[in-house]
Amino acid sequence: MEYKKLVAVYERLESTSKRLEKTHILSEFLKTTQDEKVLLLVQGRVFPNWDQRELGMASKLLLKAISVASGASMEHIDKVWKETGDLGEAASQLVGKKSQVTLFSRELSCAKVFDNLRKIADLEGEGTVDRKSQLIAELLSSAKGMEAKYIIRTVLQEMRIGLGEGTLRDSIVWAFFGQECKAGYNQEKNILEIEDQEKYDASAQLVQDALDMLNDFVEVASLARRGREALENISLIPLRPVKVMLYQKAKNIADGFEMVGTPAALEFKYDGFRLQIHKKDKKIVLYTRRLEDVTAQFPDVVAVITKRVRGEEFIIDAEAVGIDKFTGKYRPFQDISQRIKRKYDIVEIADKFPVEVVIFDALFVEKSLLQTQFLERRKLLESMIEQEQGVLTLAKEVLCSNQSEAEEFYGKSLEQGNEGIMMKNLQAIYKPGSRVGFGVKVKPTMDTLEVVIVGAEWGEGKRGQWLASFIIAVRDKDTGELKEIGRVGTGIKEKAKEGMSFGQLTEMLRPNIIEENGREVRVKPSIVIEVNYEEIQSSPTYSSGFALRFPRFVRLRDDRNVEDINTVDDIVSMASSQRGRDEKV
Ligand code: ATP
Repeated sequence: MEYKKLVAVYERLESTSKRLEKTHILSEFLKTTQDEKVLLLVQGRVFPNWDQRELGMASKLLLKAISVASGASMEHIDKVWKETGDLGEAASQLVGKKSQVTLFSRELSCAKVFDNLRKIADLEGEGTVDRKSQLIAELLSSAKGMEAKYIIRTVLQEMRIGLGEGTLRDSIVWAFFGQECKAGYNQEKNILEIEDQEKYDASAQLVQDALDMLNDFVEVASLARRGREALENISLIPLRPVKVMLYQKAKNIADGFEMVGTPAALEFKYDGFRLQIHKKDKKIVLYTRRLEDVTAQFPDVVAVITKRVRGEEFIIDAEAVGIDKFTGKYRPFQDISQRIKRKYDIVEIADKFPVEVVIFDALFVEKSLLQTQFLERRKLLESMIEQEQGVLTLAKEVLCSNQSEAEEFYGKSLEQGNEGIMMKNLQAIYKPGSRVGFGVKVKPTMDTLEVVIVGAEWGEGKRGQWLASFIIAVRDKDTGELKEIGRVGTGIKEKAKEGMSFGQLTEMLRPNIIEENGREVRVKPSIVIEVNYEEIQSSPTYSSGFALRFPRFVRLRDDRNVEDINTVDDIVSMASSQRGRDEKV
């Protein structure tokens, strides 16, 4: 196809801001061309979403290419670029004016643009920079003004034609299923008129499911062109990333049970980062939640998977959690996050910040498991994994229908340094790409509070020599009085090298003790701490009239005075905004 035909479509897409009109333009175009590659070009891409190759062209190189093709000096191009704010626009003004070039140039085809851009991504080694610039200059030399504009924009991956993935998906549905659903775009009213809504919805879902599985608009469009059956018969392909299933948030455990049913699988929610682990032909590839390939950054994980996960072909879901080699305890996500983008000293950093691979789901094991119930998927995982604490484990799980057992499990998870818990429906299928309610997360909110310690209780057993539970209070703004709001013990460590310890807090509070009553002490309010919590509840137990559910020590705020802490009024407004937020969820 001639590139100018595609450029005409770009122009029409750019000229309207109406999403439905854009969908219409693109769907009509799809019907007229057999070349689905244009679906990549309209996104400003030459590789599908799952392909990690990049063009890697700096604007400086583009200036050079424009200069070669147009004969204009770099300074002049730079000036026009600054004036227009768009290097594509600048190219369109300058390119094509060099008459002798235009005279001999051939009509530019989509295939030529596509091929030259793909070559750029594959170039390596010496002379790469010049060769890249030449490949662009070659295209620009054959380009008319408008064509130059979109070539540059494609290289910069900034098409400025306002096409989101939703519009692309709908254009595939309209183009290939519009007729059978009797759906048509009414331009005057700017609406899509549909006679068979049910069929239309089913078709849209089919296309979306295919996109979530294959991550490739070109492939899905060509399947859709072949018909419904072709889309229905697709499966996951190991080594090609799949959009991960996401979970909804439950307000609390009772709400969680309501959403996922009983009995439910409760799991620790580990505080690491998600890894989608693929294996095929003895090759292992690791993708992040955003489907970036991080295999090179985690040779340790590749080795562990090779050794401890049986199976020829699989796709499994896991969380990589930082772990302290000496204590065996989990480390917060921040500690290991630097490993994700690391390009050098990979082995050293892997040694310094080891991770435990915690596996929690399977999408494919020798065949697709998307339609297999969660309980079965988990059983399968259990049979294929050789666990070793601190290296590779299955997510800690209990089957539970009972509120108090669940609360206990939640408390235990937080105590061990996890973020909260997941609650999962046992019968649910795996749905790539959506935030479905097949599983929910329950975790303390991110809003923290600054409170003061007004009392404490001596611990028991091995914590007997320490103050182990701390009574916390907020301030009444009007009277200055301190009002209790709960007790916190979670988040404080037994060993000082792991963070704020019971021993350290005890020593800080000891000189402030003003009253002792059995195991309970009252202290002069001076130590301000920051806490987070799952929820604020009204409560007759504490003098503020509120209680924090699952409060957790975050850090000492020795930069704060008692006058600076949160007030009862703050709590009232946070409690009411929490209700507002929950209703929106
Ligand atoms: P968050 O920032 O809360 O982790 P998110 O938007 O990344 O949320 P969600 O689907 O909302 O993702 O929450 C679940 C996330 O928790 C997963 O993406 C995964 O990385 C992590 N996780 C930790 N442990 C588990 C587990 N046992 N089961 C499922 N996901 C888990």
